[in-house]
Amino acid sequence: DTALVWLRRDLRLFDHAALYHALRHHARVIPVFVFDRALLDSLPRSDRRVEFIHAALAELREALHRLGSALVVRHAQAHEAIPQLAAEFGAQAVYANRDYEPAAIARDEAVGRALHGLGIAFRTSKDQVIFERDEVLTGSGQMYSVFTPYRRAWLARLTPFYLSSYPVRRYLEHLAPLSPQPLPTLAELGFEPSNLSTLPVPLGSSGGEQLFEAFKERIDRYHEARDYPALKGPSYLSVHLRFGTVSIRELARHAYEQGSAGAQTWLSELIWREFYQQLLWHRPDVVGHAFRREYDSLPFPNREDWFAAWCEGRTGYPIVDAAMRQLNTSGYMHNRLRMITASFLVKDLLVDWRWGERYFAERLIDYDLAANNGGWQWAASTGCDAQPYFRIFNPVTQSQKFDAEGRFIRRYCPELAALPAKAIHAPWLATPDTLAAAGVRLGHDYPKPIVEHAVQRAAALALYQRE
Ligand code: FAD
Repeated sequence: DTALVWLRRDLRLFDHAALYHALRHHARVIPVFVFDRALLDSLPRSDRRVEFIHAALAELREALHRLGSALVVRHAQAHEAIPQLAAEFGAQAVYANRDYEPAAIARDEAVGRALHGLGIAFRTSKDQVIFERDEVLTGSGQMYSVFTPYRRAWLARLTPFYLSSYPVRRYLEHLAPLSPQPLPTLAELGFEPSNLSTLPVPLGSSGGEQLFEAFKERIDRYHEARDYPALKGPSYLSVHLRFGTVSIRELARHAYEQGSAGAQTWLSELIWREFYQQLLWHRPDVVGHAFRREYDSLPFPNREDWFAAWCEGRTGYPIVDAAMRQLNTSGYMHNRLRMITASFLVKDLLVDWRWGERYFAERLIDYDLAANNGGWQWAASTGCDAQPYFRIFNPVTQSQKFDAEGRFIRRYCPELAALPAKAIHAPWLATPDTLAAAGVRLGHDYPKPIVEHAVQRAAALALYQRE
């Protein structure tokens, strides 16, 4: 009998829950992917993520050919395409891995209903997290809204079972023998190439593996290096976690077994990821709303010109501008810089966190609704376990602390490259001689600061205190 495995954010053929269950229970298994018009049609015509997905599928397709099978790809609405494909191939069941985003839950319910109407089963599995939904709850059965006790409970629940991989390889002979199927080109999908191929982002599950192998060499120093954007501190695996070109079980198992201070800190970051996923599942209303409802309608003045300056990296605060330029040119931003730029937008420019959240959602190659919303609400002090509103990052102090030599700033703001380290964090405070010697004319080569931090800080405190 036949089953489909519907791939979504799990673009790999190893340690894959849905694929494993399908292969174990069915003699002919067909992997399918839908370029979902419901998602794609609203994207800009050049989008690094579509290209990342495309590259991952091309690799999957080759791997399946080598196994004598094929990847069936459609460009359509998922809720129509999946039931059609299931009927076309005479499938008894469709398998997929669960997704906890509200829109994905609604889509899966629609697909499930359509399949049910055809007498076809829809079976979903946990795959992209170690613990999902309500697997980690407080003693009184509530969701955790503070990270540290969540992390403690998460670790207490952990057994080797949850970290063990699905032995997919054992059952691969159950892949349906199929002749090669076409993969639509980017142009056929209506997209133009982005600059992805020029970026140091290794693609597909082979790229995920390459990054992970390299990170294993650095993991023991992660806790010391991760906060400095000029260093190769973090893993850069976020886009692979987003699209499932790596397995969370392999990653978490390695970190857990390694056990060093660096590995433990990194495991905590993977737990943060799950913390925000379970939060989104319990509280889907955080999409568009403050987790803490008393902060839902703070009267942000929302100056369009300031927002534009932030987006384009011309606020006059070098660390903020360098970070925004990193985002714009590469689709990635270092975690410390996400915190700094988010705080700056909300508490220095007094722009609603939802504007920043949307901008990151458009630009980040690793964009993930749960993590992005969680990160923004943390920075805006509207979230669960957030930064208290009165703790406001000073962008200059942050810059001096985490990019002391200005190495990161110089990379993305070359017009400031000749400034000495002590002047680069706040060029408006430098002497005319220092600026002249570095060939910097403020307000000409590089903007003067659009706001004064001390003034804006007081305005932000007043704005939050009004609630
Ligand atoms: P590493 O430091 O190597 O961490 C390993 C993995 O842990 C990451 O790949 C990620 O999956 C997870 N992780 C780490 N930190 C967090 C966190 N704070 N919350 C949730 N998961 C985390 N992460 C995204 O994956 N997508 C987003 O859209 C996103 N938006 C963010 C927005 C803001 C305002 C902030 C403050 C953070 C955001 N993060 C987001 C979290 C974090 O910045 C990135 O996961 C991290 O920078 C990715 O780089 P890395 O893979 O090298 O991370």
